[in-house]
Amino acid sequence: MFKVNENYLKLPGSYLFSNIAKKVAAFTEANPELKDRIIRLGIGDVTQPLAPAIIKALHAAVDEMGQAETFHGYAPDLGYEFLRTVIAKNDYQGRGCDIAADEIFVSDGAKCDCSNIQEIFSEDSKIAVCDPVYPVYVDSNVMAGRAGDWNPQTEMFSNVIYMPCTRENHFSPEFPKETPDLIYLCYPNNPTGATLTKAQLQGWVDYANRVGAVILYDAAYEAYISEEDVPHTIYECDGARTCAIEFRSFSKNAGFTGVRLGFTVIPKELKSGDVSLHSLWARRHGTKYNGAPYIIQKAGEAVYSPEGKAQLREQVAYYMKNARVIYEGLKSAGYTVSGGVNAPYIWLKTPEGMNSWEFFDHLLETANVVGTPGSGFGPSGEGYFRLTAFGTYEKTVEAIERIKRM
Ligand SMILES: *Cc1c(COP(=O)(O)O)cnc(C)c1O
Repeated sequence: MFKVNENYLKLPGSYLFSNIAKKVAAFTEANPELKDRIIRLGIGDVTQPLAPAIIKALHAAVDEMGQAETFHGYAPDLGYEFLRTVIAKNDYQGRGCDIAADEIFVSDGAKCDCSNIQEIFSEDSKIAVCDPVYPVYVDSNVMAGRAGDWNPQTEMFSNVIYMPCTRENHFSPEFPKETPDLIYLCYPNNPTGATLTKAQLQGWVDYANRVGAVILYDAAYEAYISEEDVPHTIYECDGARTCAIEFRSFSKNAGFTGVRLGFTVIPKELKSGDVSLHSLWARRHGTKYNGAPYIIQKAGEAVYSPEGKAQLREQVAYYMKNARVIYEGLKSAGYTVSGGVNAPYIWLKTPEGMNSWEFFDHLLETANVVGTPGSGFGPSGEGYFRLTAFGTYEKTVEAIERIKRM
């Protein structure tokens, strides 16, 4: 008789976005005349179309696939050289970081990579995550049997180290009391929009090297960094080559959420004894993955062309203008807000006496605006609320005007 992987049964079920959808559906059923008034600033998905330089590259690559001489079958497991080279040059060497093209693994997105990476580590590895957190890091370890049991009272897994990130510590985690083996960090952060300074990130790199931990660094929002002292990659820190893996995505900087492209960087010096993580991940990629499509990798290459860069700078600026509208508007209305400067997320403190879900209801009913309750990202997110800058400018302005009038 077959048995299922019982680790899956330990997952408490991700009610966050389905709960939001249910509440919005119930509201529109009760108030059908308000259906078209609802403004959604809850989702973490982009809304601007692909930039012209990317569309042009996609069309050209499609045409190549239609000719025997330029047809491409299976892509190389680890990515096409043309893409790995421009990534290494633009994202790393151009910033003075020592990362070579053959340390870059091209994939179909950062979500898969940051959930699959745990496979190459021992089953008894202890993980540390920020709280609140992007749920993928925890859930992928639950499925692998590494997280222990769910405690519905504390809303935590028994074998995971949670590092609270709240207003009190400026949303920057402290080193945990118990020593972890794997540390998930995401900066600029989803959901809080917070960043670490270069010195703070250097502190984490030094810590990881000292205790023998690996930092799994998710830099999906790198393109949104606007301030000077915020590192664009963990490899700006000394010693990161011996302790850090970095995940990048084309989803948020280039609107590839529906196109799918990302990459992971594993420096060759990153070793456990004499076993290199680079070779384990290469082996995994070769066995379980058959490469991102040629057409999509050509589109990825166009992200680094001069036209592509200029067009995408404008796209990011469009979203960041929204972020400013939200940030300034909420602040002037008396809210305590953070984020929104180096990230498309604004994190606000819910008003006195209202928890995250109560504020969700209040916002939906009074302003007809949908956001995301902070408690959905972890227990330390209780009392907070996330708004995203991924909407249109007009709707964002309208939403904030309504919130101000509340
Ligand atoms: C959006 C996002 C990603 C990107 O995932 P893709 O699979 O590349 O679309 C990764 N990490 C975080 C924290 C995100 O918010």
